[in-house]
Parts: sequence; structure tokens; C-alpha cells
Amino acid sequence: MERRYDFLIIGSGIAGLFYALEVAAKNPQAKLAIVTKKAEKDTSTNRAQGGIAAVLSGTDSVEAHINDTLKAGAGLCHRDVVETVVETGPSVIEELVGYGVKFTRVDGRFDLGREGGHSTNRVVHAADLTGREIERALVAACHQKADQIDFYRDHIVLDLITYPSGDREICAGAFVFSEQGRVFDAFYAPVTMLATGGLGQLYYHTTNPKIATGDGVAIAYRAGASVANLEFVQFHPTALYTPGRWPFLISETVRGEGGILKTVDGRRVMDNAHPLKDLATRDIVARAIDKELKESGEEYVFLDVSHLDSNHIKKRFPNIYKECLRRGFDITQRSIPVVPSAHYSCGGVLSTIKGKTELEGLYVAGEVAATGMHGANRLASNSLLEAVVMAKLASEKSTEYFKQDGLPEVIPVENSLHSSLLYPREKVLIAHDRRQLQRVMSDFVGIVRTADRLNLALKNVHYIKDAIEQYYLATPATYGVVELRNMATVAELMVKSALMRHESRGLHYIEDFPYTDDAYLKDTIIKGKLSKRNQNEITP
Ligand SMILES: Cc1cc2nc3c(=O)[nH]c(=O)nc-3n(C[C@H](O)[C@H](O)[C@H](O)COP(=O)(O)OP(=O)(O)OC[C@H]3O[C@@H](n4cnc5c(N)ncnc54)[C@H](O)[C@@H]3O)c2cc1C
Repeated sequence: MERRYDFLIIGSGIAGLFYALEVAAKNPQAKLAIVTKKAEKDTSTNRAQGGIAAVLSGTDSVEAHINDTLKAGAGLCHRDVVETVVETGPSVIEELVGYGVKFTRVDGRFDLGREGGHSTNRVVHAADLTGREIERALVAACHQKADQIDFYRDHIVLDLITYPSGDREICAGAFVFSEQGRVFDAFYAPVTMLATGGLGQLYYHTTNPKIATGDGVAIAYRAGASVANLEFVQFHPTALYTPGRWPFLISETVRGEGGILKTVDGRRVMDNAHPLKDLATRDIVARAIDKELKESGEEYVFLDVSHLDSNHIKKRFPNIYKECLRRGFDITQRSIPVVPSAHYSCGGVLSTIKGKTELEGLYVAGEVAATGMHGANRLASNSLLEAVVMAKLASEKSTEYFKQDGLPEVIPVENSLHSSLLYPREKVLIAHDRRQLQRVMSDFVGIVRTADRLNLALKNVHYIKDAIEQYYLATPATYGVVELRNMATVAELMVKSALMRHESRGLHYIEDFPYTDDAYLKDTIIKGKLSKRNQNEITP
């Protein structure tokens, strides 16, 4: 079926929803579609706990927030982008409040929390379930605009619709598939916003929900856009080890309160790793656990708080205590198994902070984008901030584009999909390849890398990619096939990016090149076929 809209939005996390609301307000006559591959709230946004960083207190300053961000980014942040995001931060927080988000307040003022790497308290939050509150309010606000915004749940975008117009390549919407009805639709729109989130599911252990399969990066790259800095993946050091169940984060403040990391045979993990031991920073702790797991071949280490006062633990960490108990672990009585887990992708589709990509008519926002905000390492709570600022700026930029004279005509493109969308194949084959890909990425492209392991990963990824490409063309499609095809493409781009950076910087640590080298003080860019770039960057 063919559907026509003015704006097509792919993704219902903070970036997609905020963008939709801003565009709807700026273009009251426009019709918008939000396409999302599961339920509206199946997003990373919904899982965010900590909050959003913004300069909101008299004792804080824009300069301080900028400096903290630049320090975390290890030389690769783009200062102009950081300035724009930080300066716009306070106004978007007010806009979120206007859309109905209820942040925690004390005496009428925002209760500002503090997180690692921030020099002062600047994290607005809604208790420890900030993302859930944001998602609730933005979904409700979008539903109130039902005259303008149509939701398509359980609809997965396969590829963008593109065609040449003169010497330009135009994005005119997307091909969309619904597994439930086994329906294939072409959504046409002059403006497409790709807000598909992160790629944590490429790893065996991740804090990200099932939807985070890097689809946007693969989709944009196939359409000709460049991607950047995909070697920089942030790992959270301590997620509860419960394979097969949705991941649960054990906050780093647990170590702050006296929690101790131990190996399976009872040694302290951090004893020889750093003078601060269990209080060392996130990256150092994650690296020490990774080293221990690689050497021992074990699946997890233990985090122990059973020596601390049990009443204090229950009071200080009520949510963690309850959730662990629900999963069979009483943290006041015994240590719990934890494992570092892929958490956030600093890289993505190359774009400006206004969401503009190399493909005319295609905009991006949120975790799928690489704007230069995070550099080689993300400062905690800056990702929701970047997503919402970017969505706002992209709504302005794309509205200008939408209103310009001589907007390219959206012309129907022939259905490039094959008839095999009709009958699904055994899902076990896909599940097997997905697990294999996740294992390869975790074992060879994880926290500590070597050139040998990366080359081995590339061989494995190519093998899986070839196999899935054949499934995709010759066998009936399911969401599993579509996602695995995207995951294989993204894995290849990530490994290639990691192989191109011959230094260790920020989140990329490679034993063959253990030091930073300022010859590599550049973004890692894999050019898409539309790229006309020739700048300060590492390219293959
Ligand atoms: C456990 C956890 C805690 C976090 N805590 C914080 C925090 O405290 N502060 C902070 O700043 N950041 C935090 N982050 C990171 C932050 O939550 C994310 O970076 C942010 O929510 C991403 O928003 P988004 O809109 O880009 O993507 P998401 O919220 O992930 O939304 C992506 C959307 O795209 C859809 N989609 C994907 N592919 C397709 C496709 N092919 N077709 C159709 N739809 C598709 C998905 O279904 C989903 O609706 C946390 C992340 C996690 C996982």
C-alpha cells in the first residue's frame, strides 16, 4: 500500500516524539506519521534512570558544563556543537515540562542530581525513572495531536526510498513492513526523520532494549550517507548477569557505598587495577572486569554488599534491592553476579547538530546520530540532552526545507522488495546467527581490543553478513531477518572503524596502540556513496 505524509518520523523515543511535537506545532496543516517497530514505549528512552544534564542552578555555568563535556570526550568533541547543546539545554527542559513531564522538585525548584564527570549538580530527573516519565508524557502529548499525528506500531522500516533528481539524491520516505499482517507499505514524505536509537543489541550483554539493533545506521549507510566514530561504545561496568531476561543496571553508587567487586574464586577484582580500587571511574572498572573475564574464561564477576548494614542498603537502594529480590538475589545476604554491558553508542550517522545528513530530505536525531557532541566518550546524562536539543533544532531546519519553494516532487518508486515477505522461515536459524554475531562482538570488539581479535571479528562478521544477505534475498522476511541484516552491516562498520584508529582514546582501548596519538585527533568516518567530504578525518 502507498501512504503519503508531510513528515515521516521513524522511532518513538525522546528524539522522535519531541521532533514530532515541535514539527506539528510549527506546521499546523501538516500530516505526520510516527512509525515504530514495537509498542510506543519499547525504547531506550523508557529505560533511562539518571536524568538530563542542563545548567539550571545559580552555582552552575554554561562554561563549566561545556568543559566537563569536552574533558570526557577526550579531544574529539566539536566545541561548537557542545556549545549549542549546552546553551539550548535549559530551554528544552522547560519545553519538556510544558509537554507534561513531571521532574522531581524540592521547594518548587528542580532537584538537581550529580553524576560522574560533572563538576556540580546539574541532572534533572524524575526520581530514578526519568526516562519512563519523559516517554509517558511525550506519548500522551502526541496522542493529543491525533488530528495531525498517526502512529504505526509494530511497523519496521526496511530501507529509505531514494531517487536521483538532477545532480542530487533525494530521500522520499521509507519502505515499511508489518510482520503481524505481513503487510508491506511505501510511506512517502518530503521530510524523513530517522530517530531509531542505539545499537547495544550487537553485544551479548547490553543494557539496551531489544529494539536497539542499529537499524538507523545500516539504513542510512545503505542509502548513501556517511557514518562516524562507531568504534566508541560505552560499556556500563555492572549490569546484573541474568541471561535471557531484560537487563538491569546496578548503579555505580553501589560501589560508592562500599560495594566490592570479586572474582568467582573470591579475589578482589580491583586490587591491582587502580589505586582507587572499587571507586575508580567507569571505564577503568569495566576494563578491569573485562580483563578478569578474558583471563579466567568466566561469564561474570560478583558485586558484594552483604558486609554492609542491611537496613541501610534497603533504604539507600530500594529499587535495586527489590528488583534483585524479584530475580532471586537478596543483596543483603549474598553477592550478585554482574557483567559489563554495552550501554551507549557515541558514533552513528554523520550529521549536523540540526540533524541534516548528506541525503536531501533525510534528518536524524538522538543516539543514531554522530554530531560531535560526545567525542570519544559520553558524559553521563548528556545523551538525553543532545537528543532533545537536536530534535528541536532539526524541527526548525526541516520545517525551513519543507516550506521552501521548489521542494522536489515526491515520486513513487517501484517496490524493490521481493515476494518472499509472505512466508516466514524457521526463526531458530536467525536466532542462532544473532547470538553468534553478539558473541563475536562481545569477545573480539568489546572493552579491550587487539588488532588480531578485530581482524578475526571482521572475518566472522563477513561470514554472517553473507549468510544473512542470502536469507534476506531468498527467504521470507521477519523482523528477526531484517534486524540481523542491519546488525551485520553495523558490526562490519564498527570493526572497520576500530581497525582504522591506531591509538587508544576515550572508549576505544587497543592493546597494540595503548597510548593516545594526536595524529589521530580526528573523527573516524566511513564515507557513504553520497559523501563529498574532504576534511580532517580518518577514512579508509
Ligand atoms: C538502561 C539505560 C539507562 C540510561 N540512562 C540515561 C540517563 O540517565 N541519561 C541519559 O542522558 N541517557 C541515558 N541513557 C541513554 C538514553 O536513554 C538514550 O541515548 C536515548 O534514550 C535515545 O533516545 P532515542 O530517541 O535516540 O532512541 P530510543 O529511545 O531508543 O528510541 C528508538 C526508537 O526507534 C524505533 N526503531 C528502531 N529501529 C526501527 C526500525 N527499523 N523501524 C521502525 N522503528 C525503529 C524503536 O522501536 C524506538 O521506538 C540510558 C540508556 C539505557 C539503555
